[in-house]
Amino acid sequence: MTLDLKNLSVFYGKTQALFDCSFSVGEGEFVALLGSNGAGKTTLLRAVSGLLPFKGSIAFSGMALDKIVAQKRLALGIAHIPQGRGTFSEFTVDENLSLGATIVSNRSQVREDKDRWYETFPRLRERRDQLAGNLSGGEQQMLAVARALMSRPKLLMCDEPSLGLAPSITQEILAIFKTLNKDHGMTLLVVEQNVDITLQYADRAFVIEAGQIVASGAATELIANEDIKKSYLGVA
Ligand code: ATP
Repeated sequence: MTLDLKNLSVFYGKTQALFDCSFSVGEGEFVALLGSNGAGKTTLLRAVSGLLPFKGSIAFSGMALDKIVAQKRLALGIAHIPQGRGTFSEFTVDENLSLGATIVSNRSQVREDKDRWYETFPRLRERRDQLAGNLSGGEQQMLAVARALMSRPKLLMCDEPSLGLAPSITQEILAIFKTLNKDHGMTLLVVEQNVDITLQYADRAFVIEAGQIVASGAATELIANEDIKKSYLGVA
């Protein structure tokens, strides 16, 4: 599996939000997409998952996505955890996991997957019968991740998991992504503004500014690059 973006441009009416963005995410990679407020990160994820039309090309495992609707992209293996998590607060944790598996018809697979993810997220198992709306912010983010995993994605995209979370909880969430990547082979594309913490966990990162990819590299290189951090990422 690979995700290949070539000259991706997205418009909101006459306003252009992305300008010729090109990059790839390879199988088994943990890639971060970094950038400040309004840079275009959410727009890019929404174009990949089928929520916005685009110009240029997006290919998933070599297949052009432009004519494939969002639901089919999910079935192909592209999962998108939106900003704000998108869990159903009036449903229990366990029901939320079931809702993540609506594209899976095999009931024993659903049970097996729930067991697996309850193992990875023991706090969710403890709270399986509680309403999602009663969970803490960190637990809701874990639930959003576990719910997305229930569709057995090949690529998991997550929009700003740290939003509203304390730094220690953000670390915990990013450590979970690292576990999913290392132990379960999950390919990840994580959008973040929280640069320093994210670069501790990701393999590689792209920096987006005013709708353009302005820098990229191994996380270890970007961590050490004070110019990039100062110029584009608001890190003093
Ligand atoms: P944030 O971290 O604040 O979510 P972002 O990097 O995800 O920022 P986007 O939400 O993708 O940025 O926004 C990119 C640009 O597109 C911004 O200039 C924004 O104002 C504009 N934009 C986003 N959504 C819309 C919309 N529905 N209609 C018009 N313009 C929009």
